[in-house]
Amino acid sequence: MKYKAVIGLEMHCELKSNSKVFSSAKNGYSTIPNEFVRPLDMAFPGTLPVVNKKCVKDALKMSIALGCTQPEYMYFDRKNYYYPDLPKGYQITQMACPVGVNGKIDIECDGKTIPVYIHDIHLEEDAASLDHYFNTSCIDYNRSGVPLLELVTEPCFSSASEAVAFLETMRSIYQFCDVSEGDTKKGQIRCDVNVSIMEETDQEYGTRVEIKNVNSFGGVYDAINYEIKRQSELKSLGRYEEVEQETRRWDEESQTTIHMRSKVDAIDYKYFVEPNIPKYKITKEWLEEIKKEIPELPLECKHKYMEKYGLSDYDASVIIKDKSYVDYYEKCLSLNMDAKQASNWLTTQILGKINHEELSLNDFFLTPERLKQITDAIENKLISSKQAKEIFMKSCEEKKEPKEYITSENAQMNDESKLNEIIASIMERSAVQIEQYKNGKTNLFDYFVGQVMKETKGKANPVVTKEIITQYLNEEIKK
Ligand code: ADP
Ligand code: MG
Repeated sequence: MKYKAVIGLEMHCELKSNSKVFSSAKNGYSTIPNEFVRPLDMAFPGTLPVVNKKCVKDALKMSIALGCTQPEYMYFDRKNYYYPDLPKGYQITQMACPVGVNGKIDIECDGKTIPVYIHDIHLEEDAASLDHYFNTSCIDYNRSGVPLLELVTEPCFSSASEAVAFLETMRSIYQFCDVSEGDTKKGQIRCDVNVSIMEETDQEYGTRVEIKNVNSFGGVYDAINYEIKRQSELKSLGRYEEVEQETRRWDEESQTTIHMRSKVDAIDYKYFVEPNIPKYKITKEWLEEIKKEIPELPLECKHKYMEKYGLSDYDASVIIKDKSYVDYYEKCLSLNMDAKQASNWLTTQILGKINHEELSLNDFFLTPERLKQITDAIENKLISSKQAKEIFMKSCEEKKEPKEYITSENAQMNDESKLNEIIASIMERSAVQIEQYKNGKTNLFDYFVGQVMKETKGKANPVVTKEIITQYLNEEIKK
């Protein structure tokens, strides 16, 4: 690519809490519209906001985890604008004094460590949502007042992959810190993406275009690449002045960005301090307490898995992508499963299965305890690894304990003398094949293995079988 891309992100993440950020309505996901609504969420006259302490605490927790500076006082601002999903006519947010400023975290992308600079992180309320029908629109207030943490990065990414790596890392950090489920399918994470391009030698950034409300990481990736291409083409054609400071949106259907509004007619939000919420002091003691609750973060966890258990970079990265994967893995380790084996099962069979069937690992039938029944059976040579996979699938499908399938009937045959007996009789009646083998048709080796498997209904231990067959054939060659 001819031009250098410059990307900055605004990431919104819904926080986990029992009630909303300024009202006592439940903060939860529902498919029933207007199920969790209190008068404040609909802006009834006379209602007043009450700050949810847990949300402030979680916002501060993230601020600390991201290396930001916390303010001495906490207060909110009003951002004034009207839209049908915002009945008050303003959003309570933090403009002048966010919970965190000037942070930095490292992320990893394509084997490189990249520093990401955080401009600020602030606590605000989500708006309601609109459901559009053929000739009417309905307002669903379930989301009105859901606690939202907005994180604004500096323009420090140079590709779509870096931006997505950051979002993925952030999602696990939210989950690790237990402040959000970070579920993109439930719309808990949404992004505004800012993209500009410049020549390598340019001293100043190009004109940035903002793409609003992209709600999946795949969408972020595609929107960035589309926008880089669009701007690069205009620039190559000598039409760079057509790239204006504007707000666009990502259209999934056409896989393009579409103009929404120009920054020239940007809304003047007329911010002022929210008068209904008193300013209050954040004490050093409280910050210390919160700091103690910050756990090991995803990248530290990844490096621990690589160094302590010898996992590959790839496997460790897969496991730390989601807190539920880490919890599963840690449980396997606590059950004394072999670290590498557990990682193999998790990253291949298990994630393959849950992704394919869109299940959540938290309520997956094959718990670490059940997986342990399978790995123990392999270790005790009761089943082969091929059988183990079959038992895994059957157990998941029939929702039965794996050990029910590990019976003496399907147990692997390891007994050498018994296998020896079987192989001896096969050799006895295979004079023709032995002769051909001796004459160089060495791929007949598989024929002998096949015969043993046929005789034992696939239960012969393949390693032992191959050893014995090799011995027999070597002797025949010597004759
Ligand atoms: P706005 O209110 O217009 O969204 P903000 O200051 O809140 O403005 O957001 C600015 C966002 O745009 C930040 O994420 C920042 O990193 C990004 N940004 C600023 N300049 C550029 C640029 N030239 N190219 C790409 N992104 C940029
Ligand atoms: Mg913005």
